[in-house]
Amino acid sequence: MHFIEWYPRGYGVGFKIKSKLLETQSKFQRIELYETEGFGKLLVLDGTVQLVEHGEESYHEPLVHPVMLAHPNPRRVLVIGGGDGGTLREVLKHKTVKKATLVEIDDMVVEISMLYLGIDRGLLERLMKKEEPRGELIIGDGVEYMKNSGEKFDVIIVDSTDPVGPAKLLFSEEFYRNAYDALGEKGLYITQAGSVYLFTNELLDAYKNMKKVFDRVYYFSFPVIGYASPWSFLVGVKGEIDFTKIDLERAKELELIYYDPEKHETLFQMPKYVRELLEKD
Ligand code: SAM
Repeated sequence: MHFIEWYPRGYGVGFKIKSKLLETQSKFQRIELYETEGFGKLLVLDGTVQLVEHGEESYHEPLVHPVMLAHPNPRRVLVIGGGDGGTLREVLKHKTVKKATLVEIDDMVVEISMLYLGIDRGLLERLMKKEEPRGELIIGDGVEYMKNSGEKFDVIIVDSTDPVGPAKLLFSEEFYRNAYDALGEKGLYITQAGSVYLFTNELLDAYKNMKKVFDRVYYFSFPVIGYASPWSFLVGVKGEIDFTKIDLERAKELELIYYDPEKHETLFQMPKYVRELLEKD
């Protein structure tokens, strides 16, 4: 038995499956959970791989630590999406963080992740019971939250599904403008931006939209287990922050597996033809 996620042009990413643990329909998406042969549990939303238990850090580390280490003092952090808890777990490893807010639209993703996934059950439980001292969980639409929260953040992380359905507007110019306004005088915004090779147009569109809004925009790609790698990430900067430089002292406090702060300069990998497309205009 296997599970395959089909990408455009018939490219598939698959896992051999031991058993199917559940399938249900939430208000927003179809949720499936599998036990794989070699990577622990697999979470699938609307047919797309979200993460596997063994290897999920290959996504959560590059999504969180480069921006958290490039910001001089990240105290207030916002995560949009990320209902499995992995992104928030990585954010809270930073001692500078006073409060991290997780805005996830689908409470069923949080509940299923808490009950079945070993990402960080304790954290999700504490969030659900409002017992996490430095974290809060808001079940709601990140688009609305960004428009209405009135809060100011040092770092904003969008760990959403791909730009379809409820996540579509998270990649719009209007959302980026609201995010820019929600950052303090200087801040960093990062979003996952899809498969470099198979979602190239989505990457280019998001990059173009972000360049209209942020003071500077960086891109990088990273090999992620379970995704059609390499996977792209876009970083928007507000104010005087140089994303190419990180705090190596604070990096020493982190136990990392995939992202290498000492080689931060090598992060900015992008296949030549994609770099040329990104830099064309
Ligand atoms: N690591 C995954 C990836 O890169 O595809 C994402 C993980 S997380 C499970 C994605 C989450 O984004 C889902 O739980 C989904 O419900 C949430 N989401 C999608 N659109 C959203 C929105 N507008 N506001 C808040 N959460 C949203």
